[in-house]
Amino acid sequence: MSGKKKGKFIPHNQVMSRNKVEEEKVNITPPITDFKKSGMDVTQINIIDLPSKFMPYPEGAVIKYRPYYYSEIRNHDSSKNLTYREEVDFVLAGIYTSFPAYDLTVSDFAFINLLRRISNIGNYDISAKYRCKKCGNIVSSVFKAMNILVDYLGVPKLPVMVEFSNGKKYAFNPLTIGSYIELKEEGFKNKAIAMVSKCCVNAEYGEVYEFLDHITDASDAMLVEHLDNLLYHSVKPMPVKCSYVNKEYFAKDGWSADKLRSMTSSSVIDKQILELFKQYDINFTEGTSMVKYACEDLIKKMALVKEEPCGFTNYLELEGGDVFLGPFCNTGELIKTRVCYGL
Ligand SMILES: [Zn+2]
Repeated sequence: MSGKKKGKFIPHNQVMSRNKVEEEKVNITPPITDFKKSGMDVTQINIIDLPSKFMPYPEGAVIKYRPYYYSEIRNHDSSKNLTYREEVDFVLAGIYTSFPAYDLTVSDFAFINLLRRISNIGNYDISAKYRCKKCGNIVSSVFKAMNILVDYLGVPKLPVMVEFSNGKKYAFNPLTIGSYIELKEEGFKNKAIAMVSKCCVNAEYGEVYEFLDHITDASDAMLVEHLDNLLYHSVKPMPVKCSYVNKEYFAKDGWSADKLRSMTSSSVIDKQILELFKQYDINFTEGTSMVKYACEDLIKKMALVKEEPCGFTNYLELEGGDVFLGPFCNTGELIKTRVCYGL
């Protein structure tokens, strides 16, 4: 995904190839089909696993969340020009933490937001809308929340202590959402350096930024890159197959799909067409407005349409970006069984 170059600082969220990589299926609180029976409070879903493995948080830390209310989603969609902090606060409003919520790492925050968006009673199928990288069409794919993979934080202990060539020792923790908000609000010259500097927990941000911005030693530069690898943890992109089917119409037996279709706009039905209806056993009553449908039927039966599925495997970044994840997905069946007419 990213063009990783030697000696260049790459922010956490852009580095895809990792040497450690502890890729595993993340534990998600199982789907609950009936909250009343299970005795669970719908507003309090306990988080049992995180990309950071809870490592940056105090011992025994508790994190819970509730699904979005439908009204929240509707109101949010219509509101505009929210600042980044307001966007984050909107998400945090449904997350309970036993420590300051701004101390959540950026990746954990994104992961919990993902859980919030997909959580729905008895439904852990995720419906994602995205633009296919091969055919360019906007398509939807459905996948199971249980199949989400994460790259866990791979260090044995935090903070990570780094000794630079000038003898300075800096301690680093993963970037928190609070620090990231500050960065966005303060502005910065070099995003990658700014993000690493904000992770330092034993020196002032300005001092670390100045130091890292003026590194000349190649080993120091590599050390920073290694540090970025060590602090990395994230939800892995989800592979999904493009569902777009390209329909190609072509001629057969002297007929073309276009010619057949042009008949549908005419009030007079060609005798030859009527013959074809009979030949292909298509139910058609003259005098009705069913010509269009009969012709579509005919086109299909004459095999004038060639269907070519795209089937390209796209990798969806689940932490935001281009993918829109519906908060209330695949509820069609549920709705059908719960709506009736008349008393
Ligand atoms: Zn496609």
